[in-house]
Amino acid sequence: MSDLCLGLDLGGTNIKAGVIAGNSKLIGKVSVSTGVGPDAVIANMIQAAKEAVKTARVAMDAIAAVGIASPGPLSSKRGVVFRSANLPGWLNVPLRERISGALSKPAILENDAKAAAYGEYRAGAGRDRAINDFVMITLGTGVGGGVVQDGKLVHGSFDSAGEFGHMIMVPGGDLCGCGQHGCLEVYAAASRTGQHAMRMLREHPERPSSLRQVMQTVGQVTARDVEQSAQAGDSVALEIWEKTCEFLGLACVNIVHAYDPQMIVLAGGMAAAGDFLLMRVRQAFMERFWKMDAPHVEIGLAELGNDAGMIGAAELAREAFIH
Ligand SMILES: [Zn+2]
Repeated sequence: MSDLCLGLDLGGTNIKAGVIAGNSKLIGKVSVSTGVGPDAVIANMIQAAKEAVKTARVAMDAIAAVGIASPGPLSSKRGVVFRSANLPGWLNVPLRERISGALSKPAILENDAKAAAYGEYRAGAGRDRAINDFVMITLGTGVGGGVVQDGKLVHGSFDSAGEFGHMIMVPGGDLCGCGQHGCLEVYAAASRTGQHAMRMLREHPERPSSLRQVMQTVGQVTARDVEQSAQAGDSVALEIWEKTCEFLGLACVNIVHAYDPQMIVLAGGMAAAGDFLLMRVRQAFMERFWKMDAPHVEIGLAELGNDAGMIGAAELAREAFIH
């Protein structure tokens, strides 16, 4: 049997498709617009799959299995996407069967954040490390993640294991999109980091900050603005950035006590800040980790960027149907 697998990553804007070889290496990929409505989107996914195979210079017959990463909520067991905020018109779509039938290949369906975590584990930050227990925290518009234990992706009973964004860090804290207060997401998501800076500027008009001009000219402040100003020594930006890192360090402490991973990686746009993020998160982690023994976990950065979900989905298909 061939060891080539196809990964499909369904996003709100683009569909990514890639062919992954047995050594977890990506050998060809394409990106197409998502489209609107299940039928159009599924047709685009199938088209993307065919183009990816062409780009990789292999025959569709050589593809052993297909992995699909999709926004949820979904059931990985049933292969059904229940609905999605980013995919208008989707309701209980049997995506796995639709793709599997059209391409005549066995397929798996996985939540995109979990697929990305598995991708990093197999082919990115966790590659060649001989580790079995791995956690990824993704910092984007929201905060998501995934857990690998004993080499297997953890799903939980309703496919919602690894929702680190909704661990409550501050009882009664800021309102979260989930309806609760004080979740990690409201302190550490990229979108929220910019909002915290704007609030600080409004509440403290006496404090000088280079972010004030960004807010006045652009109308908003992003996490990237905060990071750049903090790097340049802006005291308001640095205060916000360090607060974000402190919450992430605290989240890592809680994750270690829950899962005891060998490695935790930070992913998403904010991870592009590199050591400026990582060193502070590590420091906050060390300060808050219990004093009974030294931590064994390594906290690092994701390496695959936007390809992680596509690669992870293909690797999950390999695990399900080849290994
Ligand atoms: Zn929440």
